[in-house]
Amino acid sequence: MVKLMEKESEGVVGNIRTVDSQGRVVIPKRIRGLCEVGKGDGMKASMEGSRIILKKAAPDDTGSPRIDDLCRYTIPVDIRRALGIEYGVKLDFYTDGNIIVLEKYAPACGVCDSEDDVRGVNRVYLCGGCRGRLT
Ligand SMILES: [Zn+2]
Repeated sequence: MVKLMEKESEGVVGNIRTVDSQGRVVIPKRIRGLCEVGKGDGMKASMEGSRIILKKAAPDDTGSPRIDDLCRYTIPVDIRRALGIEYGVKLDFYTDGNIIVLEKYAPACGVCDSEDDVRGVNRVYLCGGCRGRLT
């Protein structure tokens, strides 16, 4: 599995996108290129544990959501409900062969590696415990 991560100064990495109020998320350009998908393509979504797996739908599959003109994909509502994906949730994109994998982005604390209550503080991610020790 190829994990494509790119740290950038604001704390949001290259292949992370935020879910909008309609449950849509923009599929990053690099991911679209790697999986050879684009505007108008239907994508079949399924769940694998806490991950969402997107596979290009067959041309005769009219039931799968399509990538729209702004390269957004609407995550099926049953999957959003099951995984607690709502407005503002960040999703981390990566690829596995020609499938797209989406995972809720859970940054780890830059000091202790904990994933509890992590928030960005001055461009560094800190967990609740480490934030407490700073103040
Ligand atoms: Zn910590």
